[in-house]
Parts: sequence; C-alpha cells; structure tokens
Amino acid sequence: MNQVSRPTDIPWERLGGLVGFICVVAFVFWQSAQWTWKQELERLEQQTQNELQLHMTALRGKLEKHEYLAQLLTTKEDLSLYLRPDTSSDDLQQLNLTLDSYRVISGVSDIYLMDADGWTVSASNWWRPDSFIGQNFSFRPYFQMAMAGEKGRFFGLGTTSGARGYYFSYPVYIADQVVGTLVVKIEIHAIEEPWRDPRGELLVTDADGVVFISSRPEWRLSTLTALSETELDAISDSLRYAGRVLRPLPITERQQLTPQAQRLTIRMRNEQTQEYLMLSQSMPEADWDVHMIKNLDQVRVQAIQVSLLAAAGVILLGLIWLYFHQRRRGQAEKVAWQAEAHRALQQAHDELESRVAARTADLSASNQRLLQEIQQHEQTESALRKTQRELIQTAKLAVLGQLSASINHELNQPLAALRSYAENARTFIARNKPETADSNLEQILQLTERMAEISAQLKMFSRKSGEQLVPVSVQAAAEYAMRLYAGPLAQQNVRVLLDFPEEEVFVLADMVRLEQVLVNLLSNALHALKSTPQPCLRIHAYYEHQPEKDWVVIQVWDTGPGIPSHQLDEIFDPFFTSKEPGQGLGLGLSISSRIATELNGELRAANHSGFILDAKMTPPGAVFSLYLPASYPDKCESGPSYE
Ligand code: ADP
Repeated sequence: MNQVSRPTDIPWERLGGLVGFICVVAFVFWQSAQWTWKQELERLEQQTQNELQLHMTALRGKLEKHEYLAQLLTTKEDLSLYLRPDTSSDDLQQLNLTLDSYRVISGVSDIYLMDADGWTVSASNWWRPDSFIGQNFSFRPYFQMAMAGEKGRFFGLGTTSGARGYYFSYPVYIADQVVGTLVVKIEIHAIEEPWRDPRGELLVTDADGVVFISSRPEWRLSTLTALSETELDAISDSLRYAGRVLRPLPITERQQLTPQAQRLTIRMRNEQTQEYLMLSQSMPEADWDVHMIKNLDQVRVQAIQVSLLAAAGVILLGLIWLYFHQRRRGQAEKVAWQAEAHRALQQAHDELESRVAARTADLSASNQRLLQEIQQHEQTESALRKTQRELIQTAKLAVLGQLSASINHELNQPLAALRSYAENARTFIARNKPETADSNLEQILQLTERMAEISAQLKMFSRKSGEQLVPVSVQAAAEYAMRLYAGPLAQQNVRVLLDFPEEEVFVLADMVRLEQVLVNLLSNALHALKSTPQPCLRIHAYYEHQPEKDWVVIQVWDTGPGIPSHQLDEIFDPFFTSKEPGQGLGLGLSISSRIATELNGELRAANHSGFILDAKMTPPGAVFSLYLPASYPDKCESGPSYE
C-alpha cells in the first residue's frame, strides 16, 4: 500500500537538507571571505611595502641634498668674515643677498647665519618683516649640535612662521674654533606636496610618535599613540612644536599584523570609522618613522565579491546537483510509475482474462445448452415434420376414403358396362356379327381408357410434392380437382360456374400442393352442398394488385349452410370438425392453410349472400379464398414447367 503523506506532515528530511545546504553556503562564504581577506591583505601589504620603500628613498634623497647644501656653503664662502664684530652692515647686506640667491637656486625655505651666541646675523629672508635677522635660536638643538662641531639636523615648527620645517646646520670655523652656524631650512610642505597619493596616506612620525608629516592635513601634529603627561611635558619643553597641543589620532582599534604592519580603525571627521593597513619603517638618520597607510575598503569589497562568487558557485553547484538529483528521482519515479502502471495493466489484463474465461465458460455452457436445445428443437421439428407428413398422408387417405365411394362407383359402373359389352361382343361374334361386336369392343376400349384415366388421377393424388416453387396454371389445377370430383358433382346435381379470366392465370406455387388445397376445398363444398336444395358451385380466379405484390385469388363458392361466424377462425384449427364421427378428421383446412402459408400465400374463409349464376342470384353460402403470389411466365425467358 502506498503511504499518502498528509498535508500537515513536515518534510524533516528536506528541511534538514536545506539547513545543511545553507550552512555549507555560509561556511564557504565565510571561508572564502577569510581567505580572500588574508590574500588581499598580504598583497596590499607587499604593495604598500614597495611604495613605502620608494617614498623613503625619495625622502632620503631630498634630505641629503639639502644637508650637503649647508656644508657646501660654509666651505664655498668664508662666512667667518661676517661673524666678526667689525663687519659692516653693507657686507652683511651683501651676504643677505648671496644667501637669498642660494636659497632661490637650491629651492630651500631659508638660509641664515648665526653667531656663536645663537643670534642671526644674516638671512636670506632679510627683506621680510619677520626676518630671522636679530633673532636668537640658540635653544634649537641644531644650533647646539653645530656649535659642538657636528652636522646638525632638526625638525620642528618655526618659531616665527609656525610652519613645519627641517633644519640642517653646519659649524663655521675660524681655525679650529666654531664661531658660528650656517642653517638651511626647508619647509615640510615642499616635501609633502609630491606625496599626495590617492592610493594611500603617508605619515612621518618622530621618536615620540608625533605625526610631523602627513598627506592628510588633519592628522598633522597628532600622536599615533596617546602620550603620557610626562612625555607631553618633555615635548613642550623642547619647543619643537612651539607649544601646540598634541592630540592622539582617533584610532578606535589597532591590531598588529606583522612587526611592520598594523590594522587600524580610525574615526574620521564625519564620525564614521575607516579601516586602514599601516606599514611602518624607521628612518634612523632622521630619527623618524615613516608610515604608509592604505584604505582597506577595496580589500573588503574584494573579499565580499570573491566570497559572494564562491557562495554563488556553491549555490549553482547545489542547484545543478538538485537538478540532476530531481531528474534522477523523476526518472526513478517514472520507472516506478511505469512498473506500477504495467503491474496494474497486467492485473487488469489478468482480471479481464479470468473474467473472459469465466464468461467464456458461461457462454460455452450456454452455447452447449443452446446447442442441446437446438438439437432438441431439431428433433422436435423433425418429429413434427414427420407427424405433419403423416397427418397429410392421413388427410390424403381421408380424402381418398371419401373419394373411394365415388371411385368405387366410377369403376364399378365401367366394370359392369365392360362385362356387359364383353358378353355382347361374344354373343355378336357367336352370331357372326363382327361389326356389332367391334362396336362393343370399341366401347370396351373407351371404358378401359376411362378407367385408366381414373387410376391415373388417383396416382397423381398420391404423388409427392416438389420443393421448388414454379409458375402453375390455376385453370389446370382447378380442372384437375374438378375432374377428380366429376362423379360426385354430377351425382349431387351441382351447378358449376368456372369464372376465370380469358387468359391463363399463373401463380408461383407447387402444382401438387395447389391441387391438394383445391381438392380439399371442393371436398368440403361438396359435403356442404349435400343437404342443399339448390347446390351451386363457383370457382372464381382473379388478379388483385397490391402495392407490394400482385396476388391471384382463387375462390371456391358454394351455396351450402355457410360457416357460423363464431367458427370462422376455429375451422382452421387442427381436428376441428362439425362432421359426424368417422366422416371427417378436421385436418383438411388446417393442412390447406399451412400449404397456403408455405406457398407464400393465405387461405381465408367467409360467408357470402349469393352469386349470379345463369342470370340468377344463388342462395348464400360459404366462400374460401386462396391468395397466392401472381406469376407472369410469359415475361420470363424460361416458361413454366410442370406436369
Ligand atoms: P373435415 O372436413 O374433416 O371436418 P375440414 O378441416 O376440412 O375437416 O373442415 C372443418 C370444418 O369446417 C368442417 O367440419 C365444417 O364444419 C367446416 N366447413 C368446411 N368447409 C365448409 C363449407 N364449404 N361450408 C360449411 N362449412 C364448412
């Protein structure tokens, strides 16, 4: 039995599969995101590292170029001359111009000369209102370093300009004694300018982590980490940043990826956070750390794209698997369905076969029974036929019995005459009267012919009928019957009217059977006329044309007592007779009616009120009408053939 799933059933199996598939997709998404993130991060790190190297090389080149400028100027010009107390203002002015021309040529910000106490005696910016001339920068480390006979380097905010600057100093000697310092200052924004790189941010921090150079202005003079109060005080004391407040960069999250690389989350001005990869490298000659910062948005987008692609791939694979799975399942179901259908068909076929077999058995039994019944019917029919034939024969014998008296009379009369003519002939021969004897012999001959004729008629009466229906002359049949009853008719003084058409009338029948019917009808008529004062007989034949068939009606009219109306149907029943016992069997009309039917016709009985005979109306009586199909042998190629 097939299990029918109810609508309330939860398909746990499918639900589990779906949840599992979603987990796999999520896992693949997550894993590919992680992998891509890692890969992209490494790639970005590598790329950033390369860029950072490039930037550092460029920065180094710029710093070194200007470092040599200070040394070069001290060796090229005898600057000690301008540091003497007796140096005229014109000479200093001359030096101012010279320094300014060097400044212009080298592209630096300022070049100025300081005496041993840190006072600026000459400067390239002599013409500006905020000129360095007359200002003391002895607090600057670069001054102190140069006075110590070393190359000095320093970066910080300018005390007068407030601009970020990088300072290179070189000592000015008189003999071995340092008498002053030449300072070359470059402005940081001149270095920053070419750093503007849309692909990332560049930061330079000092040893305290203060962002000194940055391509992003708002980050300048911030600290990479939050500094302690002591550290901040120390920076403030150094006047490097001219007392500016140093705030830490708004880094909300920090993750050290490698010794050089960090992942930072920085809150931006618009309060949104931004993720960055920061690569750092120290630049010891400047006491700096250089940092390259890259936005991680692209990496994230890439990771999401790849993981989405991977998840889509998995979903696609899942769908393909589902498609093939469903297809295989569909095919399996189809095969199962076909098998089921085949099984159902086979079962139906078997059932049908068994039903057919049962029905066939029933039919065979019925058939057998029918065959038996048919056999029985055939036996009955043959018995009936036999009985019928016997009855017909009996009827014939009955008619023969009736005829026997008249035949007896017919034959006795000629026999007596024969004897008489024979005796006479012998007498006349004895008397030698041969002519008279011959006349008697002639009479004897005629009588024997007459007797032979009667005998022949009896022979005809006993012959058997043929099966085939042929055109039969009505007049011939009637004449035969009349000849058969010629004796009784004459004996009973019956007046006979033969009422036939002028031309011979033919019916499609069998001669013997037609004669038999007419003989029966005549026999009955003669019997009916026995007690009649005016016995009349009429045999009438005529055509009756009907739409479907042409009939010939042969009627036998008598002037007997007629048939009581209530007996008009009964008289055709077998063994119905009104005759005295021993005189009739009651079979004549029954057989005649049957013969009429066999000849495709009909026999009817009626009473009539008389017919015209010799211009007079006869008394009433009975009339029997035999309807038979008309035949027109003249119209056929082969004419009628009958005895
Ligand atoms: P049967 O002559 O042996 O009686 P039928 O079958 O020939 O048998 O006739 C049946 C009956 O029909 C007769 O007994 C008679 O009563 C009636 N019948 C037949 N022919 C005539 C007739 N021409 N006139 C009056 N009655 C007749």
